[in-house]
Amino acid sequence: MGCGASAVEGQTVGLSVEKAVNSKAGSTAEKENFLKSLKSNGSISASGAFHVSRDDLISGADNLFGREEYFGFDGKDGWVSFDISKGSTKRGNYWIFVNYCIGDPRPLCVYIDGEEQQDKITTDVTGTYSPPLTWFGYGPFSFPSGASELKLTTDGYWPHVGSLYIVPAGAGAGAPPPPAPVSRPSPASNANAAGGGPQGLNVAFDGDQAVLAKIQRRSHPKVREAIMMAEERKAKIREIMEGLQVKLFKPTRTEGTVNIQDGEMIVVSGKNGAYEYDFSLGASVKSVRISISFASGDSRPVVLTLDGEILGTSFCKDATGDFSTTARERTYGKFPLEQRDTHTLKISTEDGYFPHVFNVYILDSETDDDELLDARDADDFITPPSRRFPHPFLREIRNFVSKSWTQEPDRDFKPDPSFYNSMCLDGLWICVSKACRPGTLERAAVLVSSYLPVEIRRLFLEWRAPSYRPRGPFRLVVLDNKTNQKAGDCPEFPDDWEGRNGTSNPASFTSVEDLWEGQGSLTVHELMHGVDMIIRQQIDPSFMEDCDNCHKRICESEVFLKCYARCNRHEYLAEITTLFCNTYPQSFKAGCYECTHASDGCCNFEPHKSLPKGKGSVDIDKKSDLKRLDPEGFELVNNWILPISDGDEHWKETLGL
Ligand SMILES: [Zn+2]
Ligand SMILES: [Zn+2]
Repeated sequence: MGCGASAVEGQTVGLSVEKAVNSKAGSTAEKENFLKSLKSNGSISASGAFHVSRDDLISGADNLFGREEYFGFDGKDGWVSFDISKGSTKRGNYWIFVNYCIGDPRPLCVYIDGEEQQDKITTDVTGTYSPPLTWFGYGPFSFPSGASELKLTTDGYWPHVGSLYIVPAGAGAGAPPPPAPVSRPSPASNANAAGGGPQGLNVAFDGDQAVLAKIQRRSHPKVREAIMMAEERKAKIREIMEGLQVKLFKPTRTEGTVNIQDGEMIVVSGKNGAYEYDFSLGASVKSVRISISFASGDSRPVVLTLDGEILGTSFCKDATGDFSTTARERTYGKFPLEQRDTHTLKISTEDGYFPHVFNVYILDSETDDDELLDARDADDFITPPSRRFPHPFLREIRNFVSKSWTQEPDRDFKPDPSFYNSMCLDGLWICVSKACRPGTLERAAVLVSSYLPVEIRRLFLEWRAPSYRPRGPFRLVVLDNKTNQKAGDCPEFPDDWEGRNGTSNPASFTSVEDLWEGQGSLTVHELMHGVDMIIRQQIDPSFMEDCDNCHKRICESEVFLKCYARCNRHEYLAEITTLFCNTYPQSFKAGCYECTHASDGCCNFEPHKSLPKGKGSVDIDKKSDLKRLDPEGFELVNNWILPISDGDEHWKETLGL
């Protein structure tokens, strides 16, 4: 990595916040003007514009529900018909503006007098399912003269809709369509445009409009489907857990020494305490399991005594990392029960301090079948896997797929404006050090949004980092090579974080020259490590296995010889994505650096020892190479990532950079 003269090229640029630029050239400015009017006055006064509200409903599906501020449908397949004859439309193009809120994309089909329109509405998300509602504009749509019915339908779920405005396009309220690119708006007008949507889900940017017009909100049908399936799995687990309540007995504490405080947790001050639970179970219950959730900064084993019989002396001995927030749950047993009306479970220590206990459950072990244990495990998954999960994988990724090992993201996260220029791409924060040359933020944003579907970008905001790490959201950080910045220079990360290219939960770091002189492959590589984690935590932990299988197959085939892509499943995924995105990675042609420079032509990495001596390079660098040599890997990436181009055009060419 070259470290030249340390001239700081960065300059302070005012941060503006706007919606994603719609590329319908010319008319965008008009639409934006109408939106501005709606956001500030709630109305549009252009001639021919008219408001459509719930009062104009002619009919709708039976599952319609109404709230004060919005209406929607319970379940799927909702539809409504509005009477729009009051608008006395003329034949021509009209915008449709909709005021709504929704957390996930829920597009509606539009029929005007029975004629299905090509474009949909409500394709944006506001980030929440409850107010405030935000205005968005769509179209233009083609209206006949004297249109009488506007019908909106969907097979899926409904957005929460307030009302609509129908406005003639090109009718002249606001500026005439300007030639593209439009000039840079003044900071004052940016501040106004910022209104409306909640933080984090709008595209926020500063810089060149012509570049930013390339930022698209492209969606990936397979990812969307995977997210829907994940929601269904979560619902299923909730159902099972509810069904289990009868078999799970949560006793209340009945006895205890004086040094005990009950609260959210049971805290024993000092040593030498004990507390007890009395509980009754039906005579049919022959044995039980005991499940305890607790937090403890250091190891504090407890003694469990059931009906006077000591079960053991080292339960709950894990250190969870702190004494209050990180609950760990352990289930023990099964333990035989004597036949009696009331049982007593006592918790004490041999001579030490107590862990802080949240919950104690007694489980009837006769009904404690696989399903029950699965459900209890699955309930701890942030998102349950789509298939039965092999335990070695679970151990490997436990600290970011389980609720109890991770922490809530910081919902108010904002990159420090004294250190970064930043923007939030539908949930993915891109944080560019101000030491980087001007235009870097735009360049990174265009690259990232070109291959990451909007559904995945949104999930970066939901990232739960392990409890011992800085909190999420997950973000991309671009640092400056000329001033030799390191990850630890960022205000929110520990000082001892070394390096500029790497992924350290909860951030991927890349170096600015990769986006200018380089090919973008480092940026794609690092961010893909993040995407991999997001998929496994937020969509499907089973992705771990899919990727592993592809990596195993490719290692058996020796297609990638000694390339970096072979070294493990993480690097494999990141590396093949750089091929898929046509960032022309050099690492395949380079082979193994260590082997190249070792006197005997082989490094210490075990898998390289069985391969021929030398660098072991493969002469490939592009998408078609991946498709040809590793079709399974190609499909794996293709299922989650957007293609930047159909062929082998470099992303910079494709995007006109
Ligand atoms: Zn890597
Ligand atoms: Zn090697």
